Amino acid sequence: MRLVWFRNDLRCHGHTPLTQALAGGEPVLAVHVLCPDQWDAHDVAPLRRWYVLESLIELGEALAAKGVDLHVLDGGDFDGAVDALADFVAEHGVTGIFCNREYPLNELNRDRALARRLEGRGVRLHGFDDGVLVPPRALSTGKDTPYTVFTAYKKRWDAWMDEVDPGAVPAPAWPGGEGRFHGRDRVEALRDGLGLDAALTRPWRPGESAAYKQLYDFVEHHLGDYKAYRDFPSEPATSTLSTALSAGTLAPLDAYLAARRAMGDAAAREGAATWIGELAWRDFYRQIMHRFPSLAKGKPFRPETRLLAWNDNDEHFQAWCEGRTGYPLVDAAMRQLVTTGWMHNRLRMLTAMFLTKHLFIDWRKGERFFMRHLIDGDFASNNGGWQWSASTGTDAAPYFRVFSPLRQSHRFDPHGRFIARYVPELAELDDKTIHEPGKQPLLCPDYPAPIVAHQGVKQRVEQAFRQARDAWRQQQEGGQ
Ligand SMILES: Cc1cc2nc3c(=O)[nH]c(=O)nc-3n(C[C@H](O)[C@H](O)[C@H](O)COP(=O)(O)OP(=O)(O)OC[C@H]3O[C@@H](n4cnc5c(N)ncnc54)[C@H](O)[C@@H]3O)c2cc1C
Repeated sequence: MRLVWFRNDLRCHGHTPLTQALAGGEPVLAVHVLCPDQWDAHDVAPLRRWYVLESLIELGEALAAKGVDLHVLDGGDFDGAVDALADFVAEHGVTGIFCNREYPLNELNRDRALARRLEGRGVRLHGFDDGVLVPPRALSTGKDTPYTVFTAYKKRWDAWMDEVDPGAVPAPAWPGGEGRFHGRDRVEALRDGLGLDAALTRPWRPGESAAYKQLYDFVEHHLGDYKAYRDFPSEPATSTLSTALSAGTLAPLDAYLAARRAMGDAAAREGAATWIGELAWRDFYRQIMHRFPSLAKGKPFRPETRLLAWNDNDEHFQAWCEGRTGYPLVDAAMRQLVTTGWMHNRLRMLTAMFLTKHLFIDWRKGERFFMRHLIDGDFASNNGGWQWSASTGTDAAPYFRVFSPLRQSHRFDPHGRFIARYVPELAELDDKTIHEPGKQPLLCPDYPAPIVAHQGVKQRVEQAFRQARDAWRQQQEGGQ
């Protein structure tokens, strides 16, 4: 008996473990292990849990329709998952487990524990890398170290991808007949227990079929304009496929190949190349996370930034969380996050920089707040994005570069349309005032004055980074 273990890859398309398991002619079962306690430990947002559970239901139905049984097991946490799987394997006489690798530290430890548990029992583990385009250990510098600068990494990444065979993952050879979906009731109970408001879930379409449809719609209608409009949050210019990619309802390779095919059309070429670059960023952060495991323990990539003396101002943090900083674009973005579970990339950078530079609050607080709200919450990309913004990471924004919230607002939301959508108390203001309502307080009495001035931020940040660097040097010299 062969077993396909579905984790963050809730789909049938572009799924090598499934295709390989079914290729052998042996009977095949599928399994998914629910780990709600692990979700709690990893701050997984309720909306993301909902997306995963709904997608799992679609997967169970799709597999059953093709003659494959899906068993949903209760793991509780990752230790429990190992126990549940080991029992399942023994009970069903499994000889091979087929799954896609997961690279975060806890997931790796779970898989190692399972491998140890199965040692000597004649069960082979077959790992694949469909969750990324380029496996995290595939590319190294000439000195055999990981790439920590994106541009250099991207060059090698492009060369690797040029060699990719478009027919790399053939369709599975389905057994036919009717399969069964065991444990669907537990999935539904967990989903219902989330108690989410329909207004929050309504805009989202979970599952593989919706993800692929969204990919093809995006490629057909928006990819050509991606480069020109992707930084404007009021435009529907980006794919919003991050959720599908992070839960694996969409195979990254299918996303990449769809964009590569579109490059045949001259009008879409630039947009497609830029979009493919974003898929490369996703891989980049995965290889960073995998090759620097201390990141999973809350450590900054740049060691000297461990000594930054962050502010512990709870009032400021709350104002940021609730979109009450007095900077309209920052506030609109934070309200978008809390009310929809998603935020535009430009605004993720802006709000993260605002928290870590203007308020000088520890990036880990923002990272966690994002995880608790994002439907696409993903450790590697979130950690990478936060450390980039806080200037503590690889390839990070230099610490002396601080986005001006006002400039960003004029530049990327020139008519204030995005602000008006999420900060309704400013919606009636004209194109100019909407960016700086503090200049006309009588027109919007309910909107707060800026909680911190932009002026002086750059100097304060520079000084703090200098002090941390000097203190680090002294520590290092003292330790020698
Ligand atoms: C502070 C911060 C936190 C972030 N947290 C997350 C997160 O938890 N989950 C997440 O998926 N992305 C995260 N990102 C990256 C990026 O903001 C989102 O992937 C993007 O906004 C998703 O929108 P989209 O699908 O429309 O992207 P598109 O512009 O259509 O890009 C296509 C795909 O490329 C990937 N991608 C795009 N930009 C990046 C990037 N900068 N880094 C890594 N991958 C990228 C995503 O998978 C995305 O779906 C974060 C960025 C920052 C600055």
